[in-house]
Amino acid sequence: APDASDAKLKAIDLSQLQTTKTTTPKDLIPHDQLIFGRTFTDHMLSLEWTAGEGWLAPHITPYQNLSLDPATCVLHYAFEAFEGMKAYKDKSGQVRLFRPDKNMARLNKSSARIALPTFDGDTFIELLKEFCRVEERFIPSLYIRPNIIGTQRTLGVGPPGSALLYVIASPVGPYYPTGFKAISLEATTYAVRAWPGGVGASKLGANYAPCIVPQMQAAQRGFHQNLWLFEDVDGATGRKEDFVTEVGTMNLFACVVGRDGRKELMTAPLDGTILEGVVRDSILALARERLVPEGWKVSERRFTMREIAEAADEGRLMEVFGSGTAAVVAPVRSIGWKGRLIGCGLPEDREVGEVTKRMKDWIEGIQYGEEEHPWSVKI
Ligand code: PMP
Repeated sequence: APDASDAKLKAIDLSQLQTTKTTTPKDLIPHDQLIFGRTFTDHMLSLEWTAGEGWLAPHITPYQNLSLDPATCVLHYAFEAFEGMKAYKDKSGQVRLFRPDKNMARLNKSSARIALPTFDGDTFIELLKEFCRVEERFIPSLYIRPNIIGTQRTLGVGPPGSALLYVIASPVGPYYPTGFKAISLEATTYAVRAWPGGVGASKLGANYAPCIVPQMQAAQRGFHQNLWLFEDVDGATGRKEDFVTEVGTMNLFACVVGRDGRKELMTAPLDGTILEGVVRDSILALARERLVPEGWKVSERRFTMREIAEAADEGRLMEVFGSGTAAVVAPVRSIGWKGRLIGCGLPEDREVGEVTKRMKDWIEGIQYGEEEHPWSVKI
């Protein structure tokens, strides 16, 4: 696959950035009226790549349509990888990104997996900062969507000879405008999102479209999202079990009291079948730093629906939550699995558990600069 380290090809050159500002700035929409991903800022950032030359000059231009030949390879063979990240404005008006290096590393990995080019993440972060400066008026918080597509005009199935890396951004309001709302998940047993040796750990558009029909079916039965499972033999018992992987667009955490009385925060391991969530990684790091001294065990390990169901039956399931950039954390009230509804430890009159709430407060504290932390990068 083409590679940023290929010395014959041009790396991204910051000094060549050309900015053309819009002459028709959009009206700002009040935050409580924003619908996620429906409105966009005034500009976009884009860079073309060719197999012969490497990365061409970056441009910030007014937000505009792409013009693609109907034979463009992305439209036929799904040469597309993307990222989701956010910019935040702190109390003093300073705009910050949250762990952008993680998103750059993940995008490079995803891109390389589908024979699209890689790029220098640090240079691209500088471009993102400039883009955020241009779009500053849209931020108290801004969802940023980097996207890379194969643009070669060919029906031949092969590595794209050209690509476009572009960034658009959508102003977002608070995810929980009226406070937390716990969700219900349907553990999906009739469809599989990802498998060993597959591409579940890459953020490819091709991983998302096939999840929509199961998502619609879960919604018909009254659930908010799917919980994706992977059926496999449990090495300890030799039994086939439903291993818990992740949610539609979130990783999943469970807080369980072990039969030995010890509290454990657990999430599925990075075995190639789940996305390497930036928030997941942040929660694990904060848990190791702040929960372990309180006696918690923090585990990245395989766990099964049977384990969750048994913990619930025995009153040992404390809380379950999803993690992801959009919501930071999403408390889970119940999981439907094989015809039963497993209560996830939340009393009926509460929408969020204690660990879930602490994680949200810690992470948002860092994102909005209330706690100074190396994860928060000033633009
Ligand atoms: N899993 C999937 C399938 C996702 O789409 C996302 C959202 N990017 C996540 C997990 C959470 O990842 P992050 O914490 O980086 O937002």
